[in-house]
Amino acid sequence: MWWLYAALGFVYLLHFTTAEEPKIVIIGAGASGIAAASKLYEHGFQDVIILEAENRIGGRVYTTWFDESWVDLGGQWVHGETGNAAFKLAAPLELLEASGEKNWVEFDIHNSKGVRLPLDLSQNLMALLTNVSGEANEALAGNNGSIADFFTAKFNIELQKYPTFNETLVKEVLKMFEGLTIATDSSDNWTDISATGYTAYQDYPGSNIVNWKDRGYGTILDVLMKKYPNPEEELPIMNNTLLNSEVVNVNYNATDKKVLIETSNGQKYTADHVIVTPSLGVLKEQYETLFTPQLPESKVKTIKGLSMGSAAKIYLSFEAPWWSSNRDLILLWDEMDRQEYENDTSKKWLLDLIGFFTVAHRPRMLCAWINGAGARYMEALPENQAFNEAFTLLNKFFGNSYNITRPTAYLRTNWSNNKHFRGAYSFRSVESQRSGVWANELAAPLLVDGKPIVMFAGEATNSQRWASVDGAIDTGFREADRLIELYNTKNPSQ
Ligand SMILES: Cc1cc2nc3c(=O)[nH]c(=O)nc-3n(C[C@H](O)[C@H](O)[C@H](O)COP(=O)(O)OP(=O)(O)OC[C@H]3O[C@@H](n4cnc5c(N)ncnc54)[C@H](O)[C@@H]3O)c2cc1C
Repeated sequence: MWWLYAALGFVYLLHFTTAEEPKIVIIGAGASGIAAASKLYEHGFQDVIILEAENRIGGRVYTTWFDESWVDLGGQWVHGETGNAAFKLAAPLELLEASGEKNWVEFDIHNSKGVRLPLDLSQNLMALLTNVSGEANEALAGNNGSIADFFTAKFNIELQKYPTFNETLVKEVLKMFEGLTIATDSSDNWTDISATGYTAYQDYPGSNIVNWKDRGYGTILDVLMKKYPNPEEELPIMNNTLLNSEVVNVNYNATDKKVLIETSNGQKYTADHVIVTPSLGVLKEQYETLFTPQLPESKVKTIKGLSMGSAAKIYLSFEAPWWSSNRDLILLWDEMDRQEYENDTSKKWLLDLIGFFTVAHRPRMLCAWINGAGARYMEALPENQAFNEAFTLLNKFFGNSYNITRPTAYLRTNWSNNKHFRGAYSFRSVESQRSGVWANELAAPLLVDGKPIVMFAGEATNSQRWASVDGAIDTGFREADRLIELYNTKNPSQ
């Protein structure tokens, strides 16, 4: 077989020595940028560099060492198995563990008066949430509004069946369900989430909560770069990634059909193609200054019309677990308490903290999840204040049932507050629906003489799997494929 490799290598060499080697600049070393680079390198492209604004690779895949464990500040779970690009890469390497009967986690719901709901009732409510979510796709088909009407009506009907529930409790549980439902879209409330978007999202078969055991999602970067499992096969991506290189302008107006890319530290790069991967939040904030000339009207309309959501985490690490390892601690707000917090600007963010979740393979850790507006507010607070308020809340809800110890360490996210992200992940809002824009319009490349010159990747450009790591990877592969097809290259190693 060596002669075949040699022949293909020769064809490839001939191709890139007769035609000039195309220069490709990728903006952003997140999952999509790394995926694009890895596929391009695998197909023989050699002049590929990544310009990354942060001092690390990974973007919203951010696995960091915290109190003797790896934890994920961004993407954490592989959602779905068959069809999921991350699952396909990592499962054969035995890096993943699906949640199943063995490690199934239940709800332990407490209210803001510190009263625990009977555990069987908590499980019933959890089952109800799962069942209604399962029915939503069919029920929402053809609905041009938000998901709120269906969920509110359906939960109202179902909750009436609980004989001990009065009107106030139904309202409180409904609010709890709203918080748990919108976490996947990172919106501020469920009236924002488009029903069409909800049904267009592609769920993959298999477990929806697959974890990375004692590693983190960052391992996917090593797998993509071929550093894992065999470091000797590592693609030259890290050597060609420039950290702390924030791109401030992409000029695609040059007469020689090259793109001129400029960074905030004054460096200039020319390229035949640029792949733009910063988040929708970054594009929303910077599209007017980032591109010369201005982006076409259709692209601007799409950037404005698609929505960027916010979500945040606070990790709390304890000397030893005081909770039950198979129960997530979920918050049910008493209506009077809710009103009090609603009217207090400094406390309002805590209403968006939906629960303190157990973390697989981290027995001493809990992770608070904060939705939407509360996430933005919390991330702007001084760290200590955010930690103290979250801990006070934990005691308020769960202090009567558990001997809560003081955490030995805390860690929180900073997605919305960071100008290189400006949010957690995109979602399809009612506003997106109203403006009639879709992710594929964001994905469309800008052509010069029919050639894709400025290309777009990143989770928000994925029409079926936005808001996910695997969706981001697929878009990186998609743009690499566009260039592979353009240059009609063969993978020399095939
Ligand atoms: C809190 C949270 C939880 C999540 N949980 C999950 C989960 O459990 N499962 C899942 O599948 N997904 C999850 N996601 C979503 C997932 O992490 C993202 O969809 C995915 O990582 C996005 O990858 P990307 O390449 O599109 O963008 P990014 O990761 O944002 O990459 C873009 C890169 O561009 C860089 N950049 C920005 N501006 C510039 C500039 N001007 N110049 C140069 N570089 C620039 C950024 O620093 C970044 O590194 C979560 C995200 C968050 C925030």
